[in-house]
Amino acid sequence: MPRATLPGMSRTRVVVVGAGFGGVAATIELARHGLTDVNVLEAAPEIGGTWLYNTYPGAACDVPSHLYSFSYAQRRDWTRLCSPQAEILDYLRGVARDHGVLEKVVCSTRVSSCAWDDDTATWTVTAEDGRTWEAEALIVATGQLNQPSIPRIEGLDDVAGHSFHSARWDHAHDLTGRRVAVIGSGASAAQFVPEIAKQVAHLTVFQRTANWFLPRRNRRYPGWVRAAVRHVPGLQAYRRAFVFHYAEALTASIRHPRTIGRVLALRSAAFMRLQLRDPEVRRKAWPDYTFGCKRVLFSSTYLPALQRPNVELVTEPIARFVPDGVRTVDGRVHAVDTVIWATGFATTRFMFPMEIRGSGGIELEKVWADGPHAHLGMTVPGFPSMFLMYGPNTNTSGGSIIFYLEQQAAYARQALQAMRARGASSVVVREDVEAASDAALQARFPGTAWLACDSWYRDRTGRVVTNWPGYMSEYKRATDRFDPAEYEFA
Ligand code: NAP
Repeated sequence: MPRATLPGMSRTRVVVVGAGFGGVAATIELARHGLTDVNVLEAAPEIGGTWLYNTYPGAACDVPSHLYSFSYAQRRDWTRLCSPQAEILDYLRGVARDHGVLEKVVCSTRVSSCAWDDDTATWTVTAEDGRTWEAEALIVATGQLNQPSIPRIEGLDDVAGHSFHSARWDHAHDLTGRRVAVIGSGASAAQFVPEIAKQVAHLTVFQRTANWFLPRRNRRYPGWVRAAVRHVPGLQAYRRAFVFHYAEALTASIRHPRTIGRVLALRSAAFMRLQLRDPEVRRKAWPDYTFGCKRVLFSSTYLPALQRPNVELVTEPIARFVPDGVRTVDGRVHAVDTVIWATGFATTRFMFPMEIRGSGGIELEKVWADGPHAHLGMTVPGFPSMFLMYGPNTNTSGGSIIFYLEQQAAYARQALQAMRARGASSVVVREDVEAASDAALQARFPGTAWLACDSWYRDRTGRVVTNWPGYMSEYKRATDRFDPAEYEFA
């Protein structure tokens, strides 16, 4: 049911950049409060964000769907605990359609710049092809995992074969009978390696760092489970609450590596010991860093796949590519005809190279020269009426990002309502408030597993810039109520 609408809200115009889960969440939240004058600009030809791009074999979310879904759009017919990519994309499309988001989306529109004008108190958003939009508020929902990262390794052009990134899977390239190199061994590789291992002639997995694993079978639900979820009152809500608390426990293990973390590390080690029967593979695949420092992977099929006769796990660093394949620093040449980059994303780049200019023309990239930071991950001093979805320090190692996105959408909506209620033309976070909240947030990392190794959560200075240092429940408390005292209204 739509909640109360503030008078005048429908006149506020908002541009949302990005039509993944974040952009859809923001647009729905605004619409549910009467703010329907919204344009969503999306670079891709369709909505979906990460779930549109990541179509690699086995792509799924390892956060159970009961939690990895909007609280107000609960589905009772998920086919598995952790839904496959197509099911999640279908869900997002359905929710967007049901809430009238689709007609607000302008697809195939890559935004190149957003500039604030102090005189008119408007954002001008410009697409690469020169089209422009003007808005009173800007919501940047481009996420953290949107720019595939391909390391510069000498000689790639020399390889007499084909290469692509896991987030841009080339489905036209049949892997049957091929000699394939997978570079990287994170969450994406853990999902597609077991799938393609069955198909290729030979698979070489180049691993730089090993991972901690926990089990995930993810079999299709039997009919009786689906029937129970559908018909037993309260069961769906109970499962969502259970997954929520399980996820909070995972975060507790990262926050307290010497106590709760040890318990989960033992659980993981016992599971991995059972899975890794081959002593050589076990030695190579065993992590040498604190549990939870990098993302813990959920798979019951990846480690067995590494022990297949046609799969080799290589831990020697790559020296360069050569015409026949990949040469490692020990001088060995691994013959391959296909290279799949599973090397993740430029996570600390956020929305850049998009240019964002705030009050007085200041550039966000310069403001963030020493690392991205924002109040509650959403608002930045000097950038009036701008809200970030899944911005700095709002990634979660244990929880569901959808939970954070709902909080952020409601917070941005409240800020715009507060602006309207005051007859103001802009709302901007106070510099002292943002500086204090960032300092308090960073002060929570020492002693946690997040600082115990290098990871994509940290920028080149070592600062954790992607992750929230606490629990979902803490983020909820911090963002439930927009506090006008923390903001300036013009
Ligand atoms: P990732 O976790 O960042 O993994 C990248 C892999 O590439 C790592 O093994 C990394 O090694 C390696 N690598 C990076 N640069 C390298 C280089 N120059 N030379 C050799 N190896 C290199 O990327 P991802 O697997 O695509 O996953 C990214 C994130 O997406 C995940 O952490 C997760 O948040 C999300 N994701 C989620 C799901 C899900 O089910 N919810 C599934 C897939 C992805 P190092 O560890 O040594 O850096």
